[in-house]
Amino acid sequence: MTSQTPLEAVIRAEIAERGPMGLDRYMALCLAHPQHGYYRKQDPLGMSGDFVTAPEISQIFGELIGLWVAQCWIDQGRPAPFALVETGPGRGTLMADALRATRAVPGFHDGMQLNLVETSPVLRGRQKETLRDYDVTWRDRFDETPDLPLLLVANEFFDALPIRQFERAGDGWRERLVAIVDEKLDLQSGPLRPEPHLSIRGDDLPEGGLIETSEISETIAAEIGEQLRARGGAALIIDYGYDATMRSRAGGVDTIQAMRDHNFVNPFDDPGEADLTAHVDFDALASAANVRKHGIVDQGAFLLGLGAAQRAEALAKTHPDQAHDVKGALHRLTDASEMGTLFKAMALTADPAPPPAAFPA
Ligand code: SAH
Repeated sequence: MTSQTPLEAVIRAEIAERGPMGLDRYMALCLAHPQHGYYRKQDPLGMSGDFVTAPEISQIFGELIGLWVAQCWIDQGRPAPFALVETGPGRGTLMADALRATRAVPGFHDGMQLNLVETSPVLRGRQKETLRDYDVTWRDRFDETPDLPLLLVANEFFDALPIRQFERAGDGWRERLVAIVDEKLDLQSGPLRPEPHLSIRGDDLPEGGLIETSEISETIAAEIGEQLRARGGAALIIDYGYDATMRSRAGGVDTIQAMRDHNFVNPFDDPGEADLTAHVDFDALASAANVRKHGIVDQGAFLLGLGAAQRAEALAKTHPDQAHDVKGALHRLTDASEMGTLFKAMALTADPAPPPAAFPA
């Protein structure tokens, strides 16, 4: 028997007691177990961590998002007070860049109540440091944020939320469950069930085709939509993912992936030691939110539409020694061979808000 992580022992014991578990339970344990969960133990970001995100690549990302948010706020008549909320803020880098870029927007900082939704104590610590000049309130959940006009940013947040997988089997579905297979943790098909809630999304899938759902993501999206309808504002969601047309074109794909030390690894090896993510179903989020959806657009087009190239040029001029790095970072964020088309942006607003910047009207 190979050596087990402490979390693997917990998972095996639960399977022994209750039978195979849904992927959502498995992901929740891997990412958020109070002692052994991946996000509870460490700061996974940056070169020394397991993966690098857009705000860590260049300040341009957070700055442009800050200006996008401020423009939405101005277009909606500068409501004050308002809640500026980021879910899953990582090291706080995006927010720090956004706040620096919006300092000159009259009334914006005075009117904002800054709320960060973060479950990781380690990352809360990092955010506290990065944002030490600001008045921040931390929340465990989105529904604890104040009931105010909402400007929300979520970058690589929804991909970290647990999903379930179902495969088409005749008129019904089999859930893919985590079980012990040949002594190891692996996926196994569960019993045949009707699962009527899947039919809206899964009817055109071929036999054996796969569908992924994320109940927690849809619950949060519904809460965001409710607040937008009641109080106004806008939400910006950026992640890797797909919409309904891409979903059916792909015939249903398994998008779960594990990353450790900048490499893909088996999601069932060493639970709790790798970052587990799944692609985001943007249309499922939009339907749950039940407000107006803008996009999805490619991250590259979104950033260039907000002036990323001009900002990069200006930065390179002020810091000639960093010109090469700035150019490289712009390429990484916007080029199709890098993050430019893999990542998508979607905005949500409720009527009568005008369409947000950099999304086709
Ligand atoms: N947005 C940041 C970090 C992305 S990593 C960036 O782009 O760099 C995912 C973030 O979501 C981390 O901050 C993680 O701690 C947080 N997170 C994961 N699950 C969460 C949950 N259920 N509730 C709140 N935050 C969560």
